[in-house]
Amino acid sequence: MGTGRLRVDLDAVVANWRALSALARVECGAVVKADAYGLGAGPVARALATAGCRTFFVAVAEEGAALRRVLGEGPEILVFSGHMAGDAPLLEGAGLVPLVNSLDQLMRQIEALPGHPFGIQIDTGMNRLGMELSEWAAVAEIALEQNPVLLMSHLACADEPDHPMNPYQLDLFRQMTDGIGVRRSLAATGGILLGPDYVFDLCRPGIGLYGGLPFEHAHPVVTLDLPVIQVRDLAPGEVAGYGNAWQAERPSRLATLSAGYADGIFRALSHNLVLWHGDTPCPAVGRISMDLVIADVTDLPEEPDSLTLIGPRQTIDQLAAGAGTIGYEVLTALGARLARSHVGASA
Ligand SMILES: *Cc1c(COP(=O)(O)O)cnc(C)c1O
Repeated sequence: MGTGRLRVDLDAVVANWRALSALARVECGAVVKADAYGLGAGPVARALATAGCRTFFVAVAEEGAALRRVLGEGPEILVFSGHMAGDAPLLEGAGLVPLVNSLDQLMRQIEALPGHPFGIQIDTGMNRLGMELSEWAAVAEIALEQNPVLLMSHLACADEPDHPMNPYQLDLFRQMTDGIGVRRSLAATGGILLGPDYVFDLCRPGIGLYGGLPFEHAHPVVTLDLPVIQVRDLAPGEVAGYGNAWQAERPSRLATLSAGYADGIFRALSHNLVLWHGDTPCPAVGRISMDLVIADVTDLPEEPDSLTLIGPRQTIDQLAAGAGTIGYEVLTALGARLARSHVGASA
């Protein structure tokens, strides 16, 4: 097989969901938007549903309709983008719950799908999605007559526990929703870790399920091995890769691996990437190209069949740090060309 091999440990996903549920002590749903952060929404959602997860979140109605085909009737599927123009047939056909973001969306919902369940997003300071305090004050009465199933908001700085934005948003959320008696949701992964004040009735973890920070105690979910296509020996002074960006300083052995920036190995990592053979680091050399990475395997006792990019010695967050980004982006950038396999008893 010529492609990189991406293994997704579904038992680890389920263990992370159980661990976050135990921390939250309230119902935990699962955020499976963007194809479950690139790991395969179908297998991930099926495993979580089997483990008892009843509530799933997606970004757009199209994702929700695809997820409904996987999950069948029963689990609740909520849509963060709310009710966009033209969504009504999808929302109705797949039994999705839009989380309406504005008065416009609320009116669209009431007109197009009267009696169909929906939730409401409230903006508590992130200024991204949801009704603000003044809009909510004007709309709440009409909205509540329609019996929304959820009131939710999203924290902007939950990955920084001491950030003053966290208590600020919590206060505002309480001010806007206390006493209403509708199910509430504020916390994603970071919010669960902030403690019981932040969890309300339903949590919405995403990244923590997939082994990423800020859930430090997450079980690792992903391993990515890249096959070696060719190995060659270089004399000192020889160069490698586009732009001759690397030059051998000693007699060197280089392995060319099958994966590149088209697979989500950011080109910006070119001078900052290490692959692993067991416990031995093998630095990437030269520039990362579209389909290939070259690694220095001089220090290995034998020619490797493959090297590990994500695994026990390198987490998604460590890889992300080298590129100045976050684990979320590493996961969602992993390309469609990688051969994904879903392993574990939950698969
Ligand atoms: C993506 C997202 C989540 C999940 O966040 P994580 O940090 O991955 O746990 C929860 N709620 C909303 C509104 C989101 O957009």
